[in-house]
Amino acid sequence: MPDQSMGDGPKKFVIVGGGTSGWMAASCLARLFAANPNSGHSVTLVESEVIGTVGVGEATIPTILDFISFLKVDQADFIRKTNSTMKLAIKFRDWRVQGEDYWHPFGTLGPSIENRPLFNYWFARNGQGATTGDLMDLSIAIQLAEQDKFALPDNDPRSPLGGLKFALHFDAGLVAKYLHDYAVGKGCKRIEGKVIDVAKSADDAISSITLESGETVEGDFFIDCSGFRGLLIEKEMGSPYEDWSEWLPCNSAIAAPTQLDGATHPYTVSTARSAGWTWRIPLQSRTGNGYVYSNRFISDEDAKTEFLAAIGSESLAEPRVLRFTGGMRREIWRGNCLSLGLASGFLEPLESTSIHLVFINLFRFLDHFPASKPDPKLIDRFNRLAADEMEEIRDFLVLHYCLSERRDSEFWRHVTSMELPSSLQQKIDLFEENGRILSHHDDLFTNISWAAVLNGMGSKPSANDPLTGLIPDDFKDNVMRDMQAQIRSTAAAAPSHDEFLAGAQLLAKAG
Ligand code: FAD
Repeated sequence: MPDQSMGDGPKKFVIVGGGTSGWMAASCLARLFAANPNSGHSVTLVESEVIGTVGVGEATIPTILDFISFLKVDQADFIRKTNSTMKLAIKFRDWRVQGEDYWHPFGTLGPSIENRPLFNYWFARNGQGATTGDLMDLSIAIQLAEQDKFALPDNDPRSPLGGLKFALHFDAGLVAKYLHDYAVGKGCKRIEGKVIDVAKSADDAISSITLESGETVEGDFFIDCSGFRGLLIEKEMGSPYEDWSEWLPCNSAIAAPTQLDGATHPYTVSTARSAGWTWRIPLQSRTGNGYVYSNRFISDEDAKTEFLAAIGSESLAEPRVLRFTGGMRREIWRGNCLSLGLASGFLEPLESTSIHLVFINLFRFLDHFPASKPDPKLIDRFNRLAADEMEEIRDFLVLHYCLSERRDSEFWRHVTSMELPSSLQQKIDLFEENGRILSHHDDLFTNISWAAVLNGMGSKPSANDPLTGLIPDDFKDNVMRDMQAQIRSTAAAAPSHDEFLAGAQLLAKAG
C-alpha cells in the first residue's frame, strides 16, 4: 500500500518507461534523492525491452546544458560518450521558396540600444533601404556555422562570443545508456518487464503496477514515460489528448542513418519537401536523417522514395514509419501521476523541443513538488504553465509553414491557407504593422528566434517600432557596422568544428 501519510510528500517514485524521458526523470530524481540517502525516497524504473523505445530524438536546444549541469556531470565526458556534435543553429532550406535558405541561430543578434533589440533598428534601416548587411551578419552563431567553425561562449558580455549559445546533436541510444548508468549509479532500481495491470486506491490514486512476471511494484507517485501509448496518464487517469493536426498536419516520420560525408556541420539542416520536411543531423559517427510528413498528402511508399532520393547516399538501416498526432494533454499531471515525453504530448521536431520539454517539466515538477497528498491548486498551476509553453511552441512551429510562398503541392497549399491560431495571427500582425515582436520574458523562443524566422520567411514590417526613430541613423549604422566587423574577425579566428570536437576536453572549461 502507498504511504498514506506522505508527511514530506511522496517518497516512492515509480517510472514506467526507459526511453529518453524515463531515464531523464530517473537521473534527475536519483541525483536529488542521493543527497540524503536516509530520507526514505526511492526511484524505480520499469522498462520493457520487447516493446523498445522510439529510438529517435537527436537534436536539442541550448537548455540541454542546464540539464547536464543539474546532473553535475562533466560536459566533455557527456559529449564523448554520446557521440555529440555542437549545434549553433538550424538551416532552413526551400521553406519560403525553393532554392532559398535562411537561418535560425542560437544566441543574440547584437546588443540592445536604449532597451530596444538591435534587430529592431536593423528592420527599420533595412526598410529605409540603408546598407545594413544581412540580419545574420549580426549573429556570431551563423558566422561560425557558415564556415563549419565552433567556439565556446565567453563570460564577457562585451565580447561577440558573450551572446553565443549552443546545443548538442547526440545519439539517442547512447544518451539513454549514459543516463541509465548515471541513475543506477545513484541508487535507481531498474526492473525489466512489461506492465500488464494497474491497481488504484479508493481515492483514484495509482497504488501499484503489475508486470507480466507477476511482480507487483508499489509507489506513492508514478511517472508515465511509456511513450505515445500513455499507459498510465491516458488509460488509467483518463487525461484526454488535444489534437492540433488542424495546424500541424504532419503525422508520420521515417528515419534512417547514413555515413558521414565531409566536414561535420555545427548545425541541423531542415529542408522543406513536397508533404513536410527532412532533417539532417551530423553526429560524430554518422549522419541522422528523417522525413516528417503528412500521410493525408503523400503515401508512405511515395514518402520513402522521396526520402531516399533526398538523403543522397546509401541508408545504413531500413527506414521505418512512425505515426503520431501533434498535440498535447491539457493535464499532463493528474492525481499522483505525471506524464513526460511522448506520453505528455508531441510536436513535430522542427525546432527540437521534445527533449527540452521533458526536463523543463521535470524541473517544473520539482518547483511544484507536493508537500502532502497531491494538491489540486498546485497541479492546476503546473498544468497551466506546461500548456502555455506547448501553445507558444505550437505557434512558433506553425509560423515556419504559414508564411511560405510555396504552392507546388497540396500540402503547401493547405498549410498556407489554413486559419491560424489567434495568438499567432496577432503576433504576425503586430510585427507586420509596426515591427514589434512581443514575447513574454519566460518564452522559450525569444523575440530573436521570431525575428529570424519572420525575416527568413520574407515577412517585412510596413512601419517601424516607433521608438527606433529616437536614435540618429548614423549612430545605429555605426553600432551595426562595428558589431558586424567584430563578429567577422572573431569567427575568422575560431577553430573548425571538427578541430574543436577532436579536442573536446576543452569543453570542460565551459562546464
Ligand atoms: P519512448 O522512447 O517511446 O519510450 C517509451 C518507453 O516505455 C520504452 O522504454 C518502452 O519499453 C516503455 N513501455 C511502454 N509500454 C510499456 C509497458 N507496458 N511496460 C513496460 N514498459 C513500457 N525530440 C527532440 O528533442 N529532438 C529531436 O530531434 C527529436 N526528433 C524526433 C523525431 C521523431 C520522428 C519523433 C517521433 C520524435 C522526435 N523527438 C525529438 C522526440 C523524442 O524522440 C522523444 O521526446 C524522446 O525520445 C522521449 O521519448 P519517450 O521516452 O517519451 O518514449
